[in-house]
Amino acid sequence: MFKRRGRVFVISGPSGVGKGTLVRDVLKQRSLHLSISYTSREPRFNEEEAKSYHFISKDNFKKMIDEGAFAEWAEVYGNYYGTPQRELEKHLARGEDVILEIEMLGAGQIRKMGEDAVLIFVLPPNLNMLEERLSSRGTESEEAIAQRLSCAMDELKYLKDYDYYLVNNDIENTTRQLLAIMEAESHSVSDAFLTYLDKAGRGFSL
Ligand code: 5GP
Repeated sequence: MFKRRGRVFVISGPSGVGKGTLVRDVLKQRSLHLSISYTSREPRFNEEEAKSYHFISKDNFKKMIDEGAFAEWAEVYGNYYGTPQRELEKHLARGEDVILEIEMLGAGQIRKMGEDAVLIFVLPPNLNMLEERLSSRGTESEEAIAQRLSCAMDELKYLKDYDYYLVNNDIENTTRQLLAIMEAESHSVSDAFLTYLDKAGRGFSL
């Protein structure tokens, strides 16, 4: 039987807005595959290899770029980050939806891939909240916090390229809203769905 390809959900937003918590909460409530990115950044004290990221050297990252190993990649705050292509393809081909927590340039590359992709931007209720969150999580130096805050305003210019926005006032509420977007998207009459229906004929299963 013809199987529908999975859909890609991209979550972006400024550093400290709560994307990580949001993604973790959604994964508890909906069947999705979380893509684990590669990065050349050093692990933080609370991060584990292959759970947070695959941590590799800059040289190895560049080698992987040359080999075409990434569906998308970007340089952020002086480090490289990328989504492994083979892993993404494996899950989409199985019909599994995949969630990517990536920044805006990478999101643009995913959009261009022609996959069924839904881009969601998470906004803070205000900039003070970002500063408080970045300071209280204790994983970044003061310099890194200042850098991330000054990027936050710049990043807002990419909002227009997204399909949805969420304002993270309250994590439970934001999680509910994200789940609602996902549920609605799973019933959208997209080109991908029409192709699927066409090929699957009467034997389709959703
Ligand atoms: P952090 O260093 O705080 O873990 O991540 C820095 C930024 O890189 C965040 O905005 C995060 O969403 C983004 N990021 C993480 N993984 C990827 C990836 O695979 N590709 C791209 N383009 N951005 C990523």
